[in-house]
Amino acid sequence: DNVLLEVKNLRTYFFLDEGVVKAVDGVNFKIEKGKTFGVVGESGCGKSITAQSILRILPPRGEIVEGEIIFYRDDGSVDLVKLDPKGQEIRDIRGKEVAMVFQEPMTALAPVYTIGDQIIEAILLHQNVTKEQARKIAIDLLGRVGIPKPEERVDAYPFELSGGMRQRAMIAMAISSNPSLLIADEPTTALDVTIQAQILDLIKNLQKEMGMATMLITHNMGVIAEMADDVAVMYLGKIVESGPVNEIFYNPKHPYTVALLKSIPKVGKKVKGRLESIEGMVPDPYNLPTGCRFHPRCPSYVEGTCDKAEPPEIEITTGHKVSCFLYGGR
Ligand code: SF4
Ligand code: MG
Repeated sequence: DNVLLEVKNLRTYFFLDEGVVKAVDGVNFKIEKGKTFGVVGESGCGKSITAQSILRILPPRGEIVEGEIIFYRDDGSVDLVKLDPKGQEIRDIRGKEVAMVFQEPMTALAPVYTIGDQIIEAILLHQNVTKEQARKIAIDLLGRVGIPKPEERVDAYPFELSGGMRQRAMIAMAISSNPSLLIADEPTTALDVTIQAQILDLIKNLQKEMGMATMLITHNMGVIAEMADDVAVMYLGKIVESGPVNEIFYNPKHPYTVALLKSIPKVGKKVKGRLESIEGMVPDPYNLPTGCRFHPRCPSYVEGTCDKAEPPEIEITTGHKVSCFLYGGR
């Protein structure tokens, strides 16, 4: 079929002195070729750790303890969980077949090298071209991502560019090897609203041109509405609801999804980094709530049910899944 990446029962835990943090705790999803898969939730819900698990770039003490991450290619599939995180095979996939852009490109771009040098290096790593050819490709890429006067900007240092231009340069580097999947983790969160919209447009256009799939991670439901074909809503290490974007927006089922939708900033208001309309605090990650993890904050919480067992995932219409006792499983 059309599946590019399939994540099955992924569990990524952190073994810290204070205890075990179950950052990703039994997550399942599929990303289809050429489509945008949006992952939304508050900070700390496990969205970035899911992405880092796929690329095998987990921070120290983070470990995939269970699950599969199947990456499908034309010539067969590979389980990324089985690869050595420092080995050549994952290195070849990283950057070449699966690329990533981050929230703050300043941390991903080395400050002491020009953006051209960094893009050229990425090209030389994955493509069989001369340095001169790589420079031409780099200039071409900078033009494609909307950087004016690319033949001059190629020699600029990251600090000489604005935040938006840096993000464009980062995207140029990410797409330099024609990846089949781009993982974008809060790619516009650090940028102001006008620039955010431009960067999202750019990603959308490149995606169409290149037929690339995107895994778009965001805390912002507005960004999801703009970009995603399919959506997964995460809460404390689990996907609580998932489905086609229209189902999630027009027929949301999980009380957490409903709360997230209410938190979309109104037009004209500044986008906030937090979802302040959701009552209660995100619980202590070392001591997750029993039963449904959302129960301490849930307006529909049923005592004796929601705090006793984890709600099973139920498919309510084709492709639309929800884990909440309101829809069955009691
Ligand atoms: Fe709320 Fe219960 Fe549904 Fe959890 S299972 S979201 S606590 S109603
Ligand atoms: Mg994050």
